[in-house]
Amino acid sequence: MSDKPLADVVVLPPIPGTEILTYAIPAEMDGAVEVGTRVLVPLGKRKEAGVVVAVGNGEPAERIRTKLKPLCQVLDPEPSSIPEVIELCRWGARYYCVSFGELVAAALPIALKVSTERIIELARSPSQAELGALNDRERALLDMIGQGRLLSTRKLARLAHGPDLRPAVGSLRAKGILRLKEKTPGEGSRRADTADWYEIRQPLDRRELEQLAKRSPAQYRLYQLLSERRGPVAKAELAAVAGTAACRALARRGLVALAPPPRPSPETPLAAAGPALTAEQALAADAICKTIEERRFEVFLLHGVTGSGKTEVYLRAAERAVEKGLSVMMLVPEIALTHQLAKRIEGRFPGNLAVLHSALSKRERLAQHQRIARGHAAVVVGARSAVFAPARRLGLIIVDEEHDPSYKQEESPRYNARDLAIVRARNAPCPVVLGSATPSLESFARAIEGRYRLLELPRRVMERAMPRVEIVDLRQTRTGGPLRSGSGENRDAAFFVSPKLLAELENTLRAGEQSLLFLNRRGFANYLQCVCCGEPVLCPNCSVTLTLHASRGILLCHHCNHSRPPLDRCPACGEESLRPLGGGTERIESALRRLLPRARIERLDRDTTGRRGSLAAILARWERHEIDILIGTQMVTKGHDIPGVTLVGVILADVALGMPDFRASERAFQLLAQVAGRAGRGSQAGKVIVQTLRPAHPSVVAAQTHDYQSFAVRELAERKSLLYPPFWRLALLRVESKQPRAAEQAANTVGEWCRRVSSPTVKVTGPAPAPLERLRGVYRWHLMLRSPARSQLGRILDSVLASWRRGSHRRSCRLVIDVDPASVL
Ligand code: ADP
Ligand code: ZN
Repeated sequence: MSDKPLADVVVLPPIPGTEILTYAIPAEMDGAVEVGTRVLVPLGKRKEAGVVVAVGNGEPAERIRTKLKPLCQVLDPEPSSIPEVIELCRWGARYYCVSFGELVAAALPIALKVSTERIIELARSPSQAELGALNDRERALLDMIGQGRLLSTRKLARLAHGPDLRPAVGSLRAKGILRLKEKTPGEGSRRADTADWYEIRQPLDRRELEQLAKRSPAQYRLYQLLSERRGPVAKAELAAVAGTAACRALARRGLVALAPPPRPSPETPLAAAGPALTAEQALAADAICKTIEERRFEVFLLHGVTGSGKTEVYLRAAERAVEKGLSVMMLVPEIALTHQLAKRIEGRFPGNLAVLHSALSKRERLAQHQRIARGHAAVVVGARSAVFAPARRLGLIIVDEEHDPSYKQEESPRYNARDLAIVRARNAPCPVVLGSATPSLESFARAIEGRYRLLELPRRVMERAMPRVEIVDLRQTRTGGPLRSGSGENRDAAFFVSPKLLAELENTLRAGEQSLLFLNRRGFANYLQCVCCGEPVLCPNCSVTLTLHASRGILLCHHCNHSRPPLDRCPACGEESLRPLGGGTERIESALRRLLPRARIERLDRDTTGRRGSLAAILARWERHEIDILIGTQMVTKGHDIPGVTLVGVILADVALGMPDFRASERAFQLLAQVAGRAGRGSQAGKVIVQTLRPAHPSVVAAQTHDYQSFAVRELAERKSLLYPPFWRLALLRVESKQPRAAEQAANTVGEWCRRVSSPTVKVTGPAPAPLERLRGVYRWHLMLRSPARSQLGRILDSVLASWRRGSHRRSCRLVIDVDPASVL
C-alpha cells in the first residue's frame, strides 16, 4: 500500500485530449475526498474546478511519478455526484465513443460547472486628474463598481447591454486603480440553510449498528439520536451530545450528511390513492413489484395502447419501491409532458418528488440535485439528462414512451438515455420498465427473443373505445381533375385538403369543436411518388427513397450515393404521374385560410415557436379554444390532452413514409398511432382522418386497425433481410465542414480507413452526402457501418478515431460518430 492516496479528476469544462488528471490527496483532506467530490486543482498557473472520478492508491507507475501535485481544496461539504453516475459515464464514454469528461459534465447540474472566478475590485480611488482622463468605457466600469456591484471577469464578458468593458479592466489595472481577486466557487455556496443540520444518509442494519457501538460509542450515540428524530438535527445539539469530531467522522463515513433545516410545519399532505387497477394492470404491476422486492435486474416492456393506464402501472410500482425505502427514476421524453405528469405524481408522492428538466434555472437545478442526493426526494421525474440524477438506492427505473427519438441526445456527447437507463438498472440492480403504445422495434425484438419481459395492456380503461381512423385515398382525388387542371396554389390546396377532410373540418367548426391537423414537416426531402399508383421511387440498393435534386437534375440515394436521372414514368404502373412531394406546413396553412376564411387557424412548428414562451402561448390559446384549427408538426402529437379536440387529420402520411431513413415506416406508424391517440380524450368520441397515396402501406393499415403486433412482425422481417437494426448494429460516421470539397474528401478518406480495417461481418455503406446535405451553412457527408456484432463496430470506430486524430482533415472538418443513431438524416 502506498502512503500517498491519489485522486483522478475531470476538470470542468473538460479539456479535450487530457481529460483525466491525477493528483495527490494531501493528508489534511484524507477522508473528505470521494468519487463525486468537487475539488479545486492546480492546472498550469491557474486553479480549476473538477470532479473526482476515482480515488485510490494508484498504479505503481503513477506512484513513481513523484511530482504529482496535490489537490488545492475540497469545494463542497457534500459530493456533487455519486459513484453510480460516474460509473455510468465511464460505460457511456466507451460505448458511444464520446469523451468521458464531456459526459461527466453533462451529468452534473449546470451550477457546478463553474471554475474559479476573478472578481474586479477597486485597488485605490482614482485622483481628480485621473478621473478627467478616463475614456467612456473606463468611466462606465468604475461607475458599476462604485454602485457596489460585485463584478467578475466572467460576468463582465456576459453583460448584454452597452459596449464591451473588458478592455477597460486591463487599462485600469495597468494604472493600479483596479485589481483582480481570485474567488473559488466553493466560497459562499455553503448556504446557511444547509450548513448546520445533519441527518442520516445511509441506514445501518443491526449488525452494523452493534459494530459502531463497539468501535465508537460517541458516533453510535449521535447515530441513535438522529434515527430517533427521523429528520434533521441541528449541529449544535449534536455537538452538545457527543462533540463535533464524532459528528464529522460520521459525515466522512457517509453515514450522515448535511441537510436543510426541517420544515416549519411537519404535516405532510396525505398521498392520493390511485384507482383500483384493472385485471390487466394488476398483472403487470405485480410482476414489476415482485422484481422490485427481489432487488433484481430485469427489463420489462410495457406495451399498452394509448389510454390503457400505463402511467397507473408505473405509479403503483413506484409506490412499492418507495415503501421499501428505495428511490424511483422516471424518464419522460419532453418538458411539456413532464409538467402534466409531474402534477399527477406529486399528488401520489407529496413532498417526495424532484423534477428535472431543461427549463430549470441553474440554481433550481442544483437544488433539485441536492434534494435527490440527500434522499429527500424518493421519486425523480425528468427528461433525457435525468438518467444521470444522483439517486441512491434505486429500486425502479421507468422510461415512458420509450420509442421516442428525443431520448437520443443529438449533439455531443451523443447518448441514448433509454439505453443508459437500462445499464444503470443493471448496475443498481433494479427493474427497468420501458413503456409505450408503439414500442421501438429494438425493444420489441428483444421482448420476442425473451431478453425483455413483455407486459401487455391491449385495451383502454373504462371501456373507452379506440378512435375511429378513416383513410382517404388521395389517388381518388386526382380523378376529378383538380390536380391536373388549375395551377400553383389552388392545385396544392385541392391536393392537400381532400373533399372529405374539408367536409369534416366544416362539420367540426360548425359544432364548435376543435381540429388538429398534422403534417410531418421535414418535407425538405423532395422525393418522387406516383399519384396514380402511390409507389415512391426507391434506391435499388437501400430501399429508401431517392431524393430529387432539381437544380442538378438527378435523383440521389443519401445512403450509398447511387444516382440516376429523374424518370418521366412511374416504374411501377407506367403512368406519367410522378410528382415531387414534401410540402411544408405554411403551404397547408395558406390553403386552409382560403378554403375556410372564418376559421381561426394557427400553426405550431419550429418556426412559430422559436421564441421562448411562444409554444406555451399557442398551447394556452388552443386550450382556451381561441383556435379552431391547429396545424402542426411532431410537436402536436405529444401529450396534450384537450377534451374539445374531436377531429384529428393527417395531411399526408406519405411524407413521413418517404423519409430517406430506414426507420421511415416505423416512425410513420408511431406518429400515426400517437396522433390518432390525441382524438376523443374527452366524452365525445374522436374521429381521425389520414390522407395518403398509399392506403395499403403496412404502417397506414396498422395505424387504422391499431394493430401494432402485425406491423412489428412484418417490419422486423424486412429489417432482417435488409441488414438493418435491430439485427445489425449501426454506427454513423459524419464528416462536417464549411467547405463542400473538404467534407467530401475527408469522408472518402474515412471510408478508406473503414474498409481497410473492416472484416467480412462488417458492411460499410457510403460515403454519400447526408440527406440534410447542408445544415446551417455546414456541408455533411456520412457513412454507415453495420455489423451483427457490436464489438466489431467498436474496433473499427476506435481505429478510425485514432487515424482522425493523427490526420490533417481535422483542420477543416469535424468528425461526428453516432453509435446507434436515432436518425440517419
Ligand atoms: P396511458 O399512460 O396508458 O396513456 P393513463 O395511465 O394516463 O394511460 O390512463 C388514462 C386515463 O385513465 C387516466 O385519466 C387515468 O387516470 C385513468 N385510469 C387509469 N387506470 C385506471 C383504472 N384502473 N380505473 C379507472 N381509471 C383509470
Ligand atoms: Zn442506396
